[in-house]
Amino acid sequence: NQSLSELDPEVSAAVDAELGRQRDTLEMIASENFAPQAVLEAQGTVLTNKYAEGYPGRRYYGGCEHVDVVEQLAINRAKDLFGAEHANVQPHSGAQANTAVYFALLKPGDTILGLDLAHGGHLTHGMRINYSGKILNAVAYHVRDEDGTVDYDEVAALAKEHQPKMIVAGWSAYPRQLDFAKFRQIADEAGALLMVDMAHFAGLVAAGLHPNPVPFADVVTTTTHKTLGGPRGGMILAKAELGKKINSAVFPGMQGGPLEHVIAAKAVSFKVAASEEFAERQRRTVAGARILAERLTQPDAAEVGVKVLTGGTDVHLVLVDLVDSQLNGQEAEDRLHSVGITVNRNAVPNDPRPPMVTSGLRIGTPALATRGFDEGDFTEVADVIAEALKPEFDEGALRDRVSALAAKRPLYPNL
Ligand code: PLP
Repeated sequence: NQSLSELDPEVSAAVDAELGRQRDTLEMIASENFAPQAVLEAQGTVLTNKYAEGYPGRRYYGGCEHVDVVEQLAINRAKDLFGAEHANVQPHSGAQANTAVYFALLKPGDTILGLDLAHGGHLTHGMRINYSGKILNAVAYHVRDEDGTVDYDEVAALAKEHQPKMIVAGWSAYPRQLDFAKFRQIADEAGALLMVDMAHFAGLVAAGLHPNPVPFADVVTTTTHKTLGGPRGGMILAKAELGKKINSAVFPGMQGGPLEHVIAAKAVSFKVAASEEFAERQRRTVAGARILAERLTQPDAAEVGVKVLTGGTDVHLVLVDLVDSQLNGQEAEDRLHSVGITVNRNAVPNDPRPPMVTSGLRIGTPALATRGFDEGDFTEVADVIAEALKPEFDEGALRDRVSALAAKRPLYPNL
């Protein structure tokens, strides 16, 4: 019954150091967030000890009466939050959720149509060396050169030509909202199923700030740890008639025992996501991204070759275009890291630089909004970023401004 620090000081020290890093720096990786303390607590419970293969009321193990309560709460809350007919809360991650859907509804060799990885799609939407690209015949659609938005004419033309079994809508790096009605229409014309992967923008949907894909799609997948702000994990929402197929693809198709401690944490995060406090946080998230886009499109940014893809944002992230800048994505990421801001470099469409270097940055606001950042704080951080992307920058002065913001908005005060 020793504590972590007594039993394993090495792991304990690394965990403490990570808490320090999260507190002292500004986290702007668009796919990250800070789970509430209650979510962390749920994940650290005795539910981790329980085997519960199967689903609530139909388990292959005894003693599941309490985990059944937890998983049913998670299912009911997920359905209510997004207006879905069916929910499976067992996928261990977003990639597992997507793979389970393909496993449930497609056969090896079937054609899917997804957004190109280099244009903002995810690995699981048909990338060549991902399961989706290896087992399925993946065809990619793109964003338009002119304005960086999804080329629906191309989607329709490719759907007509390739007759996919499934169209995948969704993204990992795209600053605008998708037109789900348009995707539905294209899918119907091609006789294809429509899957929407809302991993990035699920929190905005829950808050009513982004169209909900659930009424349009046959299946909607998501992660639970990005804008949704819960534990690291995945989830599948579907029309009722697909529920059985989806469930058996997750278990026993792909996974064994569900992580009931994580499912408990998912249930808690869905409760949070239904609250007014959460909606207010999502509004600050989007407002912060807009401020960032605005500050990075000022004339002094343009002068040093800094642009923003599509000219702005409607969501929780901004894609910075450094094609005309003397800084590449790697150098820009390193510079921001040196002043205490964590972002990731990201290829822009038709990127002239190699994939390990890139000509872009993906900068997100969810974690800072969770930390309490308001419009004034986001303006300050946007100005620090704009300064750091100029040819000459004062590293020490910018680091002090970052430290002041971190001190103003303390993280996990009770840990
Ligand atoms: N789908 C999208 C759109 C994503 O952006 C991601 C993660 O970045 C995933 C799925 C995969 O989620 P995970 O990392 O939990 O497997």
